[in-house]
Amino acid sequence: MSKAFEKLQQIDKEIILLEHTSALLQWDQETGMPAMAIEERSDQIALMQGLAHDRMTGAEVGELLEQARSEAGGAGAETVSGDGQATGAEDAALPPEDDPRFFSSAFLRLFGRHYEREVKIPRRLVTELAQTTSRAQAAWIEARRADDFSLFQPHLEKIVALTLEKAEALGYPEQPYDALLDEFEPGMRSSQVEEVFADLKTELAPLVKRITEAQKVDDSFRRRGYPSAGQREFSLKVLRDMGYDFDRGRLDESAHPFTTSLGGNDIRVTTRFHEDDLFSAIFGTIHEGGHGLYELGIDPAYHGSSLGEGTSLGIHESQSRTWENLIGRSLPFWQHHFPDLQRIFPDQLENIDAEGFGRAVNRVQPSLIRIEADEVTYSLHVILRFELELALINRKLEVKDLPQAWNDRMEQLLGIRPPSDADGVLQDVHWSMGAIGYFPTYALGNLFGAQFFNRMQQDLPDVDKRIGAGDLLSIRRWQQEHIHRHGAVYTAPELVRRVTGEALNPRHFIDYLERKFSRLNVL
Ligand code: ZN
Repeated sequence: MSKAFEKLQQIDKEIILLEHTSALLQWDQETGMPAMAIEERSDQIALMQGLAHDRMTGAEVGELLEQARSEAGGAGAETVSGDGQATGAEDAALPPEDDPRFFSSAFLRLFGRHYEREVKIPRRLVTELAQTTSRAQAAWIEARRADDFSLFQPHLEKIVALTLEKAEALGYPEQPYDALLDEFEPGMRSSQVEEVFADLKTELAPLVKRITEAQKVDDSFRRRGYPSAGQREFSLKVLRDMGYDFDRGRLDESAHPFTTSLGGNDIRVTTRFHEDDLFSAIFGTIHEGGHGLYELGIDPAYHGSSLGEGTSLGIHESQSRTWENLIGRSLPFWQHHFPDLQRIFPDQLENIDAEGFGRAVNRVQPSLIRIEADEVTYSLHVILRFELELALINRKLEVKDLPQAWNDRMEQLLGIRPPSDADGVLQDVHWSMGAIGYFPTYALGNLFGAQFFNRMQQDLPDVDKRIGAGDLLSIRRWQQEHIHRHGAVYTAPELVRRVTGEALNPRHFIDYLERKFSRLNVL
């Protein structure tokens, strides 16, 4: 390894340490920090993030990168163009895993991508975005509480304008939205997402109709009052069965469940216990457990480096949703796990059996709120947001017309019209944080997940039987071998092709849903 390369690795390591420190401060803020501590905590986190940004954009970094690339020669030098090329451009392929240049090529490609992104955004824009979104979040909370979009509108207008400026600074291959998407889903283009979502929408809308017309299921038992202690006991048991390692992680409570990486051997998950809704903690925990297994399964050789994290939000979400839905909402899963749950809650679940429970967790119903949506309608909520934010960024829709556009589209896609903006356009925090380009990754996760699962079933044809016997570890091993261990080495499109032999294909998700609901005798 050359001196320049070693220096870059050292810089990368310090950035990761700062990010993990910042994540620890955030984890504490969400799980146990006293309310009055918020002001200094915000300063602490901002300081850590500022230091990480400074480290990345330091004067020597560009030169070191250039030097390391030319010393690496071959693939390492060609992988990322240093001439201000647009983001989202195709990366050159990596050498094979057993090639001695593999690690340095993967590292330089990823680090170069991060560096080139960060240096293109002027410091003034970074600060202005941070200040604008900080105020916008407070305005969004107030607008949602008052059910008054006009309180949020000027903030969102400013965010859209600054975000467009950011996209222009970053550059893009086809349209400004590419540059935004690239932050969350490197390697994907807007046009590709548009195409995939158009297919998905055409397939999903009639499927929702067929299922909801035919499905008769009573899930009212979920509200019978379930003390938190029992929910916690069951959550811990399921995480253990999934192979989540409590020597390298822990489960805590927070208002919104999340997973955070505080180090290669410190991957924490949270959940929430609602006594009046049994499903909230169960599926929240399994979902976060899926995120956790991804991070825990990364090759330890990548620990302390930017290669040592999940490669994209879409791939991350594919792992959490596979555990939550494809595994956690399957009948075999409940054939094995229901007796445990019933032992913990004998009175509440007295007249329920495994099969009835398995049916109830698959109730499909068009609803207003994304985070409460079922597995089938969920992606439609995401497509709606993607189409609207794309129209905002392309200047085809004005912020003032957003509530009307939202409601019209809800009616088209799901057949329901929000009675208020609080339950419509104001429901999600993302836009107030400036996270435009984030939403598509939720639905991409469903698609990647089904496509990977389809591939896994070819390797493990008896996967249902394994799930029914409580053998979740063989699934975890397959995921680790094919997906987790690679960390951020491959982009999502590369990984999908590598694992499944084809590009992203929404057909697998639709096939999975059709198979599942015909097995449940709904279709
Ligand atoms: Zn998630």
